[in-house]
Amino acid sequence: MSGTLEVSDLHKQFAIGRPAVDGVSFAVPAGEIVVLLGPSGCGKTTTLRCVAGLEHPTGGAISIAGKVVSQPSRGIQVAPRQRDLGMVFQSYAVWPHMTVRQNVVYPLKHRGVNRTEAARRVDEVLALVGLSEYAERPVTALSGGQMQRVALARSIVYRPKLLLLDEPLSNLDAKLRLRLRDDLRRILKAAGMTALYVTHDQAEAVVLGDRIGVMRDGKLLQMGSPDEIYNRPADLFVANFTGATNELTGTLVARNGAFGTVDFGDGRRGEASLLHEVGVGDKVRLALRPENIRIGGNGANTFAARVTDRRYQGTQTVYDVELFGRRLEALELGTAARHEVGVETMVSLPREGCWAYRDEGKGGEE
Ligand code: ATP
Repeated sequence: MSGTLEVSDLHKQFAIGRPAVDGVSFAVPAGEIVVLLGPSGCGKTTTLRCVAGLEHPTGGAISIAGKVVSQPSRGIQVAPRQRDLGMVFQSYAVWPHMTVRQNVVYPLKHRGVNRTEAARRVDEVLALVGLSEYAERPVTALSGGQMQRVALARSIVYRPKLLLLDEPLSNLDAKLRLRLRDDLRRILKAAGMTALYVTHDQAEAVVLGDRIGVMRDGKLLQMGSPDEIYNRPADLFVANFTGATNELTGTLVARNGAFGTVDFGDGRRGEASLLHEVGVGDKVRLALRPENIRIGGNGANTFAARVTDRRYQGTQTVYDVELFGRRLEALELGTAARHEVGVETMVSLPREGCWAYRDEGKGGEE
């Protein structure tokens, strides 16, 4: 099992602009995969580059396996090659003039591992990434997905304490991306790697991460298990960025433990989950996932609405529904689109999937 990463109050201020990383703290325990997720420019790559030693932080501290590798206040900045890291990036960092085996054995040769042991480890890691049959091929005769497997094999063959991955799947076509995404978790777990993974793709984050940290404007907004991030988002931005793209507004008029009654105007009232501090009388914004809105529902929290558009996508259909003068998206699985455009219908909003946040007067969306 490999080591642990600790990032404490990390700051990075470039010569220009606002802080790229603004007080980020988290830990990656041994054997865990932590994913930093966020939109372009949120600071996730800069955080990863600070861990790699490719950027000099302007504040805070980073330690790997108990050893401080960056701490500007004490003048500590350990060089990247002395950090015992593996790195996998977007571009396939493989040596084109070498075979798969030569690529993968290189870091072991470089570290003085004897031939027999090196050959054994290369065979083991090639089997792990599913490239045993390709060992003697020049890497130029491989697909993009296979090249990325070579890059991965080369980064884990010497068993670094920590593996850093920066959008490693983003250059692959959609189908390969899904396959390698699923394989990647299995490979990292089988190798017992401790990993920090950066992506803007929420689906990737959920499949790969033991924990996900959602970043925005240089800040870590929430760090939690995929289940926590998906079912108890810390704020409207996290909810929105992880797919709760619908929003309603209202005023909280009563509290009842974990739930509250929201007045949507014109006497229409419904129940919502109160995941965070919200007081009676507060203006609230509600986040809802398209898949949690039921068209044609009945029972509690059911309101009259109208279907204004539908987009058939083969195995699912996305509907636009107009509710309280707002456009919401609702998603239904199945190969048949059941509701016609223009119909007046009821929609139900299960209160467990309807999260109320105090309206702070700023945008939840980018
Ligand atoms: P992306 O997914 O687009 O790579 P990101 O979330 O990884 O985005 P960063 O690359 O970490 O974001 O950038 C964070 C902020 O720091 C951005 O506002 C970016 O413009 C800024 N930044 C990054 N590198 C530099 C640099 N060398 N000089 C000045 N500003 C920089």
